[in-house]
Amino acid sequence: MRKYVIMGVQGSGKSTQSTLLAADLDLVHISVGDIFRWNVQHHTKLGAQVRRTMAAGELVSDELAEGIVQDRLTGHDWNYGFIIDGFPRNERQAEFFLESYDIDGVIHLELPDSEVRRRVLARRLCLGCGMDYNLIDSSPRSAGMCDSCGGELAVREDDTEEALTVRLRDYHEKTNPVLDIFRRKEYVVTIDARPGKDEVQQSIRKHLSLPDYRPASPAAG
Ligand code: AMP
Repeated sequence: MRKYVIMGVQGSGKSTQSTLLAADLDLVHISVGDIFRWNVQHHTKLGAQVRRTMAAGELVSDELAEGIVQDRLTGHDWNYGFIIDGFPRNERQAEFFLESYDIDGVIHLELPDSEVRRRVLARRLCLGCGMDYNLIDSSPRSAGMCDSCGGELAVREDDTEEALTVRLRDYHEKTNPVLDIFRRKEYVVTIDARPGKDEVQQSIRKHLSLPDYRPASPAAG
């Protein structure tokens, strides 16, 4: 069983890289941000509680984030392990997490802030299935439409200059100390997130001593 945490600033490719790793290793991929977004889109009670906070780019309360993680990890079948993305985001969440779970590694995707802005402002999200696109290097085949489900592509409510400034500040202030906690336990592998997604995935595999990544051939899409 393998248990990983993936960390990195917004737009560093956490979701893309976790999805690739999870699919190949049969891991459960838990994205706390996706779970909150699903709740906002489906107008649940939780969605109503977090919508404004998320749109402003701020972190929701620790209790809500911890509750989500606990529910997913206790309720889910994760025989082969999990990869958790978007949690922990501050020291309290890190302590909560380490009290309950031992982990095999923390994947830290490193990206300079200037590149973060460029990527995040080009990001599009499918309103139907949640698939991520980026107009820089992974545009949909037809503009504005999801390749996978045909859903409409939209800009995330928190992918604005204003919200991004708040999220970057939060990341540096609150999430960097989490990395320090994990570094002290020698869990962290730092990966340069600037290359293309296949190269980054291969680098993650190499650093974690996992089998090599074999990307799908271009002909197979
Ligand atoms: P993400 O998709 O990871 O960028 O998360 C989107 C938004 O969800 C964040 O800006 C926060 O408002 C909220 N969120 C996600 N994970 C957490 C967390 N661990 N703690 C608090 N808020 C979170």
